[in-house]
Amino acid sequence: MSSENILGSLRHSSDETEFFTRTPTGYEPGRTKYVVVFGTVMSGLGKGIFSSSLAKILQDKGLTVSPVKLEGYLNLDSGTLNPYRHGEVFVLDDGMECDMDLGTYERMLNLRLSRLNFCTSGQIFSSVLEREREGRYLGRDVQMIPHVTGEVKLRLRELAVASGADVIFVEIGGTVGDVENAYFIEAVREMAYEEGPRNFCFVALTYIVEPQILGEQKSKPAQVSLKLLNAAGIHPHIIACRASTPVTKKVREKIALFGNVPMDRVFSMHDRDSVYVVPEMLRGAGIDAAVIDLLSIADRMDTRAEETARRTWNDYISRLRGAQHPVTIGIIGKYTTVRDSYASIIQALEHAGTHVGAKVQLDWVDSTDLTQANAAKRLENIHGVIVPGGFGTRGVDGKIACIRHVREHKIPYLGICYGMQLAVIEYARNVAGLPHAGSTEIEPNCPDPIIDVLPEQKRIEGLGGNMRLGGFDVVLTPGTLAANLFDNADRIRLRFRHRYEVNPDYIERIEKHGMVFSGKSPNHPIMHALELPTDRHPYFIATQAHPELTSRPLQAQPMFVGLVEAALRYSGVPADSESEAAHGSHLPRPPSASNAGDSADTQAASA
Ligand code: GLN
Repeated sequence: MSSENILGSLRHSSDETEFFTRTPTGYEPGRTKYVVVFGTVMSGLGKGIFSSSLAKILQDKGLTVSPVKLEGYLNLDSGTLNPYRHGEVFVLDDGMECDMDLGTYERMLNLRLSRLNFCTSGQIFSSVLEREREGRYLGRDVQMIPHVTGEVKLRLRELAVASGADVIFVEIGGTVGDVENAYFIEAVREMAYEEGPRNFCFVALTYIVEPQILGEQKSKPAQVSLKLLNAAGIHPHIIACRASTPVTKKVREKIALFGNVPMDRVFSMHDRDSVYVVPEMLRGAGIDAAVIDLLSIADRMDTRAEETARRTWNDYISRLRGAQHPVTIGIIGKYTTVRDSYASIIQALEHAGTHVGAKVQLDWVDSTDLTQANAAKRLENIHGVIVPGGFGTRGVDGKIACIRHVREHKIPYLGICYGMQLAVIEYARNVAGLPHAGSTEIEPNCPDPIIDVLPEQKRIEGLGGNMRLGGFDVVLTPGTLAANLFDNADRIRLRFRHRYEVNPDYIERIEKHGMVFSGKSPNHPIMHALELPTDRHPYFIATQAHPELTSRPLQAQPMFVGLVEAALRYSGVPADSESEAAHGSHLPRPPSASNAGDSADTQAASA
């Protein structure tokens, strides 16, 4: 039976059928192809990096792609997850709080994703339970199969319709064998059957161990885990072997034999110096050709587009490797032992460093150890400082002491979200004569609540005590540093995740003392960016947004570019060699025009 026949017959089947296949209107079977990526042996293999790299090399060929991450946990989104345990919370333009892998997809694919690109078990179960209460299961007992799996398939097909993508990349979170993701695996197995041959490509990521005591690679854990996938009814078409060093032919032969996968589709994905080289690595191994062939989509390709895309990307990588001028940026936080909490900031600094020819080194400074007395010593070898986003009271005094130090000593500064709020508090206390200025987040009965949740703003933007999330427009004041960074754009778009903001009652007073609010909400008195005039400080800027979330390799985020440039100057690199580094290799300027903050294509629901 052809794929159309299977789906067609299921759609018209009676209430007594064992199938449960709700398809969204407009869904055309066979139009959309699916690549599903599974992890075996253990988590943390870089499924998101693999999947986004594979998606990228298809995108380079002119195909449209859209990724989706299926998360096993029961939370509705990642908003309440502790970044210590799970890495940063990535925020999409439509306000969805999701896993940091979505950041990898947005950066690699230069797409603006939406909530359709992130699906948790919590979302699946809550829609099933909602339907149950509405009596929409027609007297049936509601079961994992077909109803819960049916909901998963519906989500994938909805994404297919909304994105119009040629290929959907489905990343299944966790490891094969976990209880949490078993029904996702079952759902894609069913769906591959329903869609018919040449519509699904299954890729298993596995891990090759190399115990120090043996000094050789062993494939047994990989073999055992791949069997688990087979037991779930899934036979992978491609196997990517993760390892610290290139996987030997002998090991790949074993994997091929035990996995029933031809040798040319068993590929070594060993550690590399940058995630951005993975697409070229996959291309080199012929994985793109294998996927194109397996999904029969050669006729949708545009090979001319590929050459250009490849050249641009490889140019980025050579500039990344060739970046010479060392510069140290201090990141002042409380999660500094867990680098994943700052994944997007690390990436944004890499993009900015590559853009200006600087090799950015990071110095993680634990804010709980910082005081006014030791700040000078601790920040001695640092050329620029970021106070990133944060919540709660821990480490706040250290951050304020640090901001005072960098302001007074003219060390380049970029404040992000909490880093902007604390910059206002520091300025109010030490310059604007408000020694008791504070935030109601830290001190609810603060005498001068210069940072506060404002009732009228709660009302106007429907905050309801919750966070203000997602992409919002920012109007820039002409002639300011902020406007200059964005090529004099009058309006940009940035991403937000905050509950508190600058209290408008204090703005006049702060501005009278020299701080400039250079970015504002177009419709409400919400301050989005501030700065010190450049004749008073070489680079002191902060934003209520999270500019790191919209930085892309080929479109470095201007506020980060400005920081790294200023840090280079502070470190003593003469201005002309800096600009030679930046412009000698035909570097693009930071993105310009009105959507400079987030200029990617729009995907899925936001389309
Ligand atoms: N805690 C602050 C707020 O809720 C800042 C949030 C952040 O840095 N993401 O507004």
